[in-house]
Amino acid sequence: MNRILTILVPITAFLSFSSCSQTKEAPADQNTSETEFKAFIEHYLDTYWELNPGYAIYVGNHQYDSVLQIPDGATRQWKLEQLAILGDSLATFDESALPPNLRTDYWMMRDQISSDIWYINEYKSFEWNPAYYNVGGGIGMLLNDRNLETAEKVMNISGRLKNVPAYYEAALSGIKDPTLEHTELALLQNEGTLGILSGALKDTIEAANIDDELRKETLDLTDNAIASIDSYLSVLRTMVSEKKGGEWRSFRLGEQLYTEKFSHDIQSRFTAQEMYNKALERKDKLQTEMASIARELWAKYMEDQPMPDDDVFVIRSVIDAISIQHVHRDSFMIAIEKQIPELEKFVTEKDLIYLDPEKPLVVRKTPSYMEGSGAGASISSPGPYDKFADTYYNVSPLTNYSEEQAESYLREYNHYILQILNIHEAIPGHYTQLVYSNNSPSLIKSIFGNGAMVEGWAVYSELMMLENGYGEDEPEMWLMYYKWHLRSVCNTILDYSVHVLGMSEEEAMDLLTRQAFQEEAEAAGKWRRVRLSQVQLTSYFTGFHEIYGLREELRQKQGDAFSLRDFHEEFLSYGSAPVKYIYRLMTEE
Ligand code: ZN
Ligand code: ZN
Repeated sequence: MNRILTILVPITAFLSFSSCSQTKEAPADQNTSETEFKAFIEHYLDTYWELNPGYAIYVGNHQYDSVLQIPDGATRQWKLEQLAILGDSLATFDESALPPNLRTDYWMMRDQISSDIWYINEYKSFEWNPAYYNVGGGIGMLLNDRNLETAEKVMNISGRLKNVPAYYEAALSGIKDPTLEHTELALLQNEGTLGILSGALKDTIEAANIDDELRKETLDLTDNAIASIDSYLSVLRTMVSEKKGGEWRSFRLGEQLYTEKFSHDIQSRFTAQEMYNKALERKDKLQTEMASIARELWAKYMEDQPMPDDDVFVIRSVIDAISIQHVHRDSFMIAIEKQIPELEKFVTEKDLIYLDPEKPLVVRKTPSYMEGSGAGASISSPGPYDKFADTYYNVSPLTNYSEEQAESYLREYNHYILQILNIHEAIPGHYTQLVYSNNSPSLIKSIFGNGAMVEGWAVYSELMMLENGYGEDEPEMWLMYYKWHLRSVCNTILDYSVHVLGMSEEEAMDLLTRQAFQEEAEAAGKWRRVRLSQVQLTSYFTGFHEIYGLREELRQKQGDAFSLRDFHEEFLSYGSAPVKYIYRLMTEE
């Protein structure tokens, strides 16, 4: 397998970099050339895709469409060696000689290398997460790619299918100590893959404009792949039925791995535990605010009913009463479309940030190949290798919902929350950040963009809009905003509590439904998600907290000279780098 990869990838600048890799301890000899650093970035990315061909297709890089890497020990060993060489080469550059945008690229590559090594040596999900193994994602991407001819798709997929038997053999020998939750996830997801192979893939092969020999060969390869997945699934099923008891590895990551994963994934100035404590503090503050607004609104919505002492009950009742204000199911999409220019107008009038009129956001119905992700609205941006494509705001019309489902959904995304959602997803949230990010051209930041920075910006922009008078300070708007914001805060509390502190399902449901006012169904979905993922749920509040903190620190320091618009534009000009690095660049002057 490794040999196939090496043949496919031209060994470009590789030798010249590794030949001067032993100069770590001698900064005087360090390379200060910007041109050579830029060449190194290219070399780094070439190597990255060579090591991780499975990710390439997800960012629009089609170089490895026909490659399926075998996830075995030899591949991991080879990756570790290549990562060590890359790290040594990177260390030959003098970071202090680089301009800010390249310096952040330097830091991000260094972090990525150490994260990649950590994932192989410490996290080891290949030993405990059977859902780590699944060939369906890449094949599904290829089948759905509207820019590829069918014949080309079939040829690329055929290349992948050849390795499927070896792939699942590596899976079976790699799995040592699985969790029940990830085993069940693997069953579900690989069954989905079986469905794709025996359905859409076979149909595509039958219909493709290819010669009959290739058609037969590819159909045979598909059958072999189906047989391999079947036997993988039957081993997992046997595992589930035979060891029902307590022999499974716990889905809880535990303090050490969790703390390390937090530092690799989030790249915060704070530790996981510090963020947990800040989230607890924030939750108390939000609940106090909510109680006081709800009490103020009680008479308006509850008429003659006496107001009880129980804060939780008061907040819940007022929220329920306000949620009745929502658009009709048929105008959901139109309501979103109409709000975009209003948000633009507000941002421009208040001089909050420059919006580029040349890069309009296109609101569209979620395309059918993206349906099923569950989200009602999402931003779909062009991949870094395809950046001139349009940016879409995908909205799922509620056509498939029953009357009750639609009503419950519309109450959740009521008059107030829908506006906050649009701020978060579109303006000045994700979409605006994306436009700025594309203006600071850095493949490193597009590919390894920091999730906490990206989500943090969207969460920050909600509060920033309200602080500047969006929603005209209506108490209803603030109450609904606090409920929405409490969700991000409780995500952090939940994640840390479950993985480090051993929080039970009952305690988790109490946190989400009683203390954060979520519906039963939403909370149940969150409980499922927190057992399958770790750390990602903390990115929203952590990013928010760091951005807000940076802004307040600069406001203090600059006094009357502080400009909110300048702050926003400078902050976003660094691209999707971790907030701690933007902090360093904006405070060290
Ligand atoms: Zn209604
Ligand atoms: Zn978001």
